[in-house]
Amino acid sequence: GVPADEESDRKVVIRRPGMPLKIIAPPKSPRGPGGGNRDRRGRLTVTTATSGEDERFRSDAARRRRLQRLTGHRVEEKEKLIREVVIPETITVQELANRMSERAVDVIKLLMKQGQMLKITDVIDSDTAQLIAEELGHTVKRVAESDVEEGLFEEDYNDEGAEPRPPVVTIMGHVDHGKTSLLDAIRKTEVVRGEAGGITQHIGAYQVTSPLGGRITFIDTPGHAAFTSMRARGAKVTDIVILVVAADDGVMPQTVEAISHAKAAGAPIIIAINKIDKHDADPQRVRTELLQHDIQVESMGGETLEFEVSALTGAGLKELLEGIQLQSELMDLRANPEVSAEGTVIEAKLDRGRGPVATVLIQRGSLYNGEIVVAGAEWGRVRAMIDDTGEPLRDAGPSVPVEILGFNGTPDAGDRLAVVDSEARAREITEYRARQKRERQAARTAGARSSLADMMRERQEGSARKDYALVLKGDVQGSVEAISSALEKIGNDEVQARILHAGVGGITESDITLAQASGALVIGFNVRAHKEAREAADRAGVDIRYYNIIYNLVDDVKESMSSLLPPNLREERLGEARILEVFDVSKIGKVAGCRVEDGRVERGAHVRLIRDNVVIHEGKLSTLKRFKDEVKEVVAGQECGMSFENFEKIRAGDFIECYLVHAEKRTL
Ligand code: GDP
Ligand code: MG
Repeated sequence: GVPADEESDRKVVIRRPGMPLKIIAPPKSPRGPGGGNRDRRGRLTVTTATSGEDERFRSDAARRRRLQRLTGHRVEEKEKLIREVVIPETITVQELANRMSERAVDVIKLLMKQGQMLKITDVIDSDTAQLIAEELGHTVKRVAESDVEEGLFEEDYNDEGAEPRPPVVTIMGHVDHGKTSLLDAIRKTEVVRGEAGGITQHIGAYQVTSPLGGRITFIDTPGHAAFTSMRARGAKVTDIVILVVAADDGVMPQTVEAISHAKAAGAPIIIAINKIDKHDADPQRVRTELLQHDIQVESMGGETLEFEVSALTGAGLKELLEGIQLQSELMDLRANPEVSAEGTVIEAKLDRGRGPVATVLIQRGSLYNGEIVVAGAEWGRVRAMIDDTGEPLRDAGPSVPVEILGFNGTPDAGDRLAVVDSEARAREITEYRARQKRERQAARTAGARSSLADMMRERQEGSARKDYALVLKGDVQGSVEAISSALEKIGNDEVQARILHAGVGGITESDITLAQASGALVIGFNVRAHKEAREAADRAGVDIRYYNIIYNLVDDVKESMSSLLPPNLREERLGEARILEVFDVSKIGKVAGCRVEDGRVERGAHVRLIRDNVVIHEGKLSTLKRFKDEVKEVVAGQECGMSFENFEKIRAGDFIECYLVHAEKRTL
């Protein structure tokens, strides 16, 4: 072999995926007593661990000879690279071998020496991996599991001085105030007419050019909840919020909600007073009402830009777009297009023909076809990028929304996207996240189970809130989130929707199992049940309902939930009788001889026995007699005999109040 001194002078170039190029000059070994590889001094190695021999003072050459014996083939020293091997908490034999640029069989042989019979796909722990790596002469960098995320995003990146980028705008507002129409008018396309039921079902993102020449990116969210849940996951996507308020309707509950969401996100608001073409439009009222919510528009001396627009006639749109651009210039939005891309998944779906399709907003850097990306627990190689007009793109820069094809699975809305250098790194990250996700899910299922137990107990005790259990499946994350939040809102103190599970995709057998276990209804929004699931539902008697319009869904659930509400009981006073005398009648017991003072009394009606203005008893009338005959009712002025169900402590002079109870169905 090559003498150690000679070798140690050679610089080694290390090319490791996901890491900058490293040039390492191996440490010069001092040739004093106990020389050798300093790095290995005192370290536990496979051989010391297994043979008990002290390896500390062996020379490199001896180590190499020994290794040669162990692995059974000549170690090609000229190719030998000393690597810093990154070892996570667990690693497969294959991956460890890859990271060391060693053959997997050599690793397996070393493991065998240690008494472990393993295959290349088996997972070993980090201690074992370290022994192997050090035995093969590499240095080791142990990392915690969560370290795999490290360096994925450039956290303290400074975009100052970078190039200006288009603003990303989200349109929010009360339902039917014209969000979709406005976006549509801006794009001059036909989204509104094509939509089922006229409600926005999907998140879309589009770019338009403002009259001043700048580009503006619009995101159409299906609901404020989706907006906020994305934010909750750390995705700050929106720069500016356009709040649509219909001039004929004014500030409504969801308008207020949108204001809170926008303020919480720290995004400036631009008011679009829509539908000014309508004869009953009253934009001034909108301005005044907004004041109550701390929004002072420009024309009233405030800072919030406002524009009167009509999505129908197109009036004011030019000014609105100019306003957006001016607002964004004020904000001095910038991003560096030169770095590797970072973005956020706006929406993702499983397309039958194209596989997983993710709509991603690029926020920094540029994404190129063929790059490897990770988002949430999914990764993929970008196979194609398609812009909002359906045109293929080769690259996408800051603030550009693109559909990305090539993911191996469907990421979630709000997942952040990053580019990585290798499949191995992508796998490492996504496997770690998938594991975390599974653990979270397991924890949630445990939670659902215990809440199910709570639910049963509450039912038995006949107390507290009743739950209306649901399993919800939808075609896209945005809809599922919008529906979940709408359903969560329709409950009250007595009854509430409990969503046991909500997810994207078709209805599966496991959804049915879950529903069956908890007596839940299964809802499919723009998705259907698989054949097996359908059959399972039939067998289990689980109800599946399909919808394609959020409102119909919510209304139906609301109606069924209303049936769980205890009815309102309304009392109708019939009349009052006074007890003149009490008789003992065989078989019947005590019978009150009464005179009806006002109104009437009815057999089977509810009665109250009142003595000295105090209610002594409430119950039902068991007999009502006039002379010897059982009668249905007795009117004021007449005398009669009455007796109570299960109550005999009656006295002359007591009053008997007679009333009916009407149960009235309630609605939420
Ligand atoms: P969204 O629920 O906020 O998305 O509201 P849509 O865009 O679906 O609009 C609700 C209804 O208002 C639709 O029937 C639209 O045609 C109508 N609409 C929207 N904008 C205008 C407008 O500027 N003028 C008039 N007259 N009608 C409008
Ligand atoms: Mg809409």
